Amino acid sequence: MSFRSVSASVRAWPRRGSHADGASLALALEEAGFSLFFAMDHRVSKIPKTATAELAGDLLRWYDAHARDLPWRAPPGAGERADPYRVWLSEVMLQQTTVSTVKARFERFLALWPSVADLAVASLEDVLKEWAGLGYYARARNLHAAARVLATAHGGVFPDTVDGLAALPGVGPYTAAAIAAIAFDRPETVVDGNVERVVARLFAVTTSLPQAKGELRRLAATLTPTQRPGDYAQAVMDLGATVCTPRAPKCLLCPIRRACQAYVMNIAETLPRKAEKAAKPVRAGVAYWLESADATTGAAVVLLVRRPAQGLLGGMLALPSVGWDDGALPAKISQLKWRATDAVVRHTFTHFHLELKIVAASLKTPITVKDGHWIAKTDLLDAGLPTLMKKAVREMGEFMAE
Ligand code: SF4
Repeated sequence: MSFRSVSASVRAWPRRGSHADGASLALALEEAGFSLFFAMDHRVSKIPKTATAELAGDLLRWYDAHARDLPWRAPPGAGERADPYRVWLSEVMLQQTTVSTVKARFERFLALWPSVADLAVASLEDVLKEWAGLGYYARARNLHAAARVLATAHGGVFPDTVDGLAALPGVGPYTAAAIAAIAFDRPETVVDGNVERVVARLFAVTTSLPQAKGELRRLAATLTPTQRPGDYAQAVMDLGATVCTPRAPKCLLCPIRRACQAYVMNIAETLPRKAEKAAKPVRAGVAYWLESADATTGAAVVLLVRRPAQGLLGGMLALPSVGWDDGALPAKISQLKWRATDAVVRHTFTHFHLELKIVAASLKTPITVKDGHWIAKTDLLDAGLPTLMKKAVREMGEFMAE
């Protein structure tokens, strides 16, 4: 009996709950000459220790040959450990941005601040400006705050345990585990979206996310080896990113296919299941485009304000705006005579969609506004604006060109 025909007949067998009849499946596979890593049951919750070691070994051999070449990594098998500063920075950047975008931004950030000591003495404004476009600006603020703590309380040296790392500002359980495993080779279980997908498929977990998170974490922990745990953590991430992909997983290239229940049951692409998300609400706001002329050069300038440190786009330069967050408009601005424009910006935040209408006014000479900065119109797109405000600037550019 071929593996394929076994898989096909498994699909036709009676099911208990959401899983195929495990005993029959195991029997048929054994008959077909496949050695299973583990005894199939209604719900496999644990793989025997010998088999987990074998699975980790298969993954590590695959990783040694196929690891992605990433600038924050130490090459596998070379006995080197990655620099915790680089691991930390990459993990924070990767939380909201793709690997291809992060690669370039990571190199640029490191060129500006090559070490945690350099980052600690940088100004927050410069760090936020450099972070522009990477989103979730609270993370940049925390990065800066943690660098200062590391420089002042730890002599610039990273703690090498999860607890020590998690005590730093903004370092949550995931990032602490990632740094401890990757930079210090601690046997910590690192569970990101890629790892969740691999584990959900390996164990055919049909509970929907986010409810399944705890279960997936527990299952992932049963697989974490004591040998080369840092490389192992990266191996699972790489497997999820390049082989066990959300759509069309490349199971035939997968080093752990023999142990994968979802592959056997032909349900890989349906996992992990996700609970339907509630529709995001739409908020409406108004942004204020106030133009004037520089007193010395006569060049066109536009008013930006630095947003309060806490809250959405905290600490970032932005056009003054109201209606979509808790912010208020400075009185000096609200009293001006504003005219409507056709410019509208649409942007999606984690919890809501935003529709921002832009109104415009002009003044002969710039006025002083609290936290205000008059920036040359030609420099606006290089001023470190968050993506929402860059969209607004581009939109106004088009509106004025019409
Ligand atoms: S066999 Fe397929 S579904 Fe299973 S872990 Fe490998 S790539 Fe993912």
